[in-house]
Amino acid sequence: MGIGHYSAHNCVLEAFTLAKTLNIAEPTVIRGEELLARGMGGLYGVGRAAAQAPALVCLSYLAPGASQSVAWVGKGIVYDTGGLSIKARSSMVGMKGDCGGAAGALGAFAAFVSEQPDINVHCVLCLAENAVGPNATRPDDIHRLYSGRTVEINNTDAEGRLVLSDGVVYAQRDLKADTIVDIATLTGAQGTATGKYHAAIVSNCGGLERRCVVAGLRCGELTHPLPYAPELHFPEFTSVVADMKNSVADRNNAQPSCAGLFVLSHLGFDFRGGWLHIDMAAPAHSGERATGYGVALLNVLFGAHSSSRLLRALAPPTK
Ligand SMILES: [Zn+2]
Repeated sequence: MGIGHYSAHNCVLEAFTLAKTLNIAEPTVIRGEELLARGMGGLYGVGRAAAQAPALVCLSYLAPGASQSVAWVGKGIVYDTGGLSIKARSSMVGMKGDCGGAAGALGAFAAFVSEQPDINVHCVLCLAENAVGPNATRPDDIHRLYSGRTVEINNTDAEGRLVLSDGVVYAQRDLKADTIVDIATLTGAQGTATGKYHAAIVSNCGGLERRCVVAGLRCGELTHPLPYAPELHFPEFTSVVADMKNSVADRNNAQPSCAGLFVLSHLGFDFRGGWLHIDMAAPAHSGERATGYGVALLNVLFGAHSSSRLLRALAPPTK
């Protein structure tokens, strides 16, 4: 727990502090070996080489009489070396920011819950350091994720989708969420596809996708939709020894869409709820500073369920 090390543990403490501030129940924490025992081989496998154990943290706000539940699932890689598929020295710099999705989800939750929403809201943080060490995941390892599906690791630097997949399945199975949003600094290719200002979004629901675009325009945290075509893009992950690989065969074939589909495949392509994937790798930072991207977007997107007059006025129409 050396001073100056980016720390999953500090993020866990932050969640406890926020719960106290919001006067809600203490967060659920599933950490270290318990992740493995619960079947969360994605988050466990990514974080197992680090000095501090990986953790899934869930904060929940339960509205009296609510019939709907939304879960915001954030990628919280507190430092990303790439693992054994290690990053080049220049591309590792700045990887303290690979928890921007979790930070955005946590900040959004803090603001949203303060306004007494009329739906249940869960914030799921997938916290891990993707480190190098004798216990690190190796390319060729096969991990079983919380979905029960197996993944052949062909790139340990494609770790965000592994931790998110366990997070969204937790939201589905344990939280019974009907709308699941995952938000992450997921792919470098996002910047190429939609640039520094627009997050790339993928959704199984046209209405949710449209509302996310409108919410982005209204709050300034811009988004742009990417193709949603599982039948065309998911074959990029074909494995001969597991249900899928974790990294695509062809990096020039809609990579940010593929990364999103990887996450959805663990919910199942027949998932009946709404799923929205927000890849905000580039908008999460401006130069060497973080932007807080996601806080305003999620608050405005779900603003119709808030008691804040401002958020209700900004919220995109639901029809
Ligand atoms: Zn990575």
